[in-house]
Amino acid sequence: MKKIGILTSGGDCSGMNAAIRAAVRTAIRLNIEVVGFRKGYLGLMKGDAIPLDTKAVSGILHRGGTFLQSARSPEFKTPEGQQKAIDNLKELGVEGLVVLGGDGSLTGALALHRLGLPVVGIPSSIDNDIPYTDMALGVDTALNNIIYAVDCIKDTASSHARAFVIEVMGRNSGYLASISAIATGAEFALVPEREYDLAEICQQLRARFEEGRDNAIIILAEGAGHAREISDSIKDAIGFETRITVLGHYQRGGAPTVFDRLLASRFGKRAVELLISGNSGVMVGLSCNAILATPLEDVIKGEKRPQDEVLRLAEVLGV
Ligand code: ATP
Repeated sequence: MKKIGILTSGGDCSGMNAAIRAAVRTAIRLNIEVVGFRKGYLGLMKGDAIPLDTKAVSGILHRGGTFLQSARSPEFKTPEGQQKAIDNLKELGVEGLVVLGGDGSLTGALALHRLGLPVVGIPSSIDNDIPYTDMALGVDTALNNIIYAVDCIKDTASSHARAFVIEVMGRNSGYLASISAIATGAEFALVPEREYDLAEICQQLRARFEEGRDNAIIILAEGAGHAREISDSIKDAIGFETRITVLGHYQRGGAPTVFDRLLASRFGKRAVELLISGNSGVMVGLSCNAILATPLEDVIKGEKRPQDEVLRLAEVLGV
């Protein structure tokens, strides 16, 4: 293999740049040329590629987001879109591809593998819902962002005796909400995986304030309810002032943590090594602190990462 490509697709996350850098540096040591496709599969379908050498990836390791940019491209889901991508890769002489993204992007990578292109995926999604990896890239940084914000909000909540509903990302996954609630000592984590009774929550909050506690933090995964409805119900039931903070895209950005920088470096290096050794159609993943490769077929078919242990821990700790 003489030339490979790399792209970032779907939602961005911190650590993508560090992974691109590691992949490029690994490839160059092995005398392999690298090009980066801009805006994910969109760039692949347009042939929008830039050469990547050590200079091109210098100064990016500590930056959040992705300097190659990311996009969502419905056209790539079609056979015509995928054929365009294959044709462009052939024309550019690109013999293999590293894809960074969430489950949708990895499904796209599997489609290219089925069309005969050597592909390796790197799980990158703050939801941490990708099977066969203990952690996806960007999760640790997002959690640290959330925890910093919740700690700040807790200070002001105490000063004014308020309850706060803090909405975090997670359409179908309560991972960020559960972990951040455990790590900040929040009163409740409302997640899509677990039913909750708002009346019961209000009762517990009333008892809490009657005991003289001066704040309450409820962390809500975006897919588990509407912050406004929950906040209004709490206010009506307990008469306490309530406020809403939606953390939104703040969670995605910022300098990657040490954990994400290291994970990105390990993932990027291993992805290139797998690609050139002929291991196509796999995703790198973290398992018991080792970097393993799992067939993309299994990743896509696999059950979403079970949250049972985290949810049980939250329950035991009274979250
Ligand atoms: P996130 O976890 O941040 O949502 P993601 O990778 O799951 O990231 P998606 O929007 O689901 O984000 O997918 C990103 C892109 O991957 C899509 O815009 C599309 O180009 C490609 N893709 C998604 N699903 C498929 C599919 N079934 N077949 C081929 N390509 C797909």
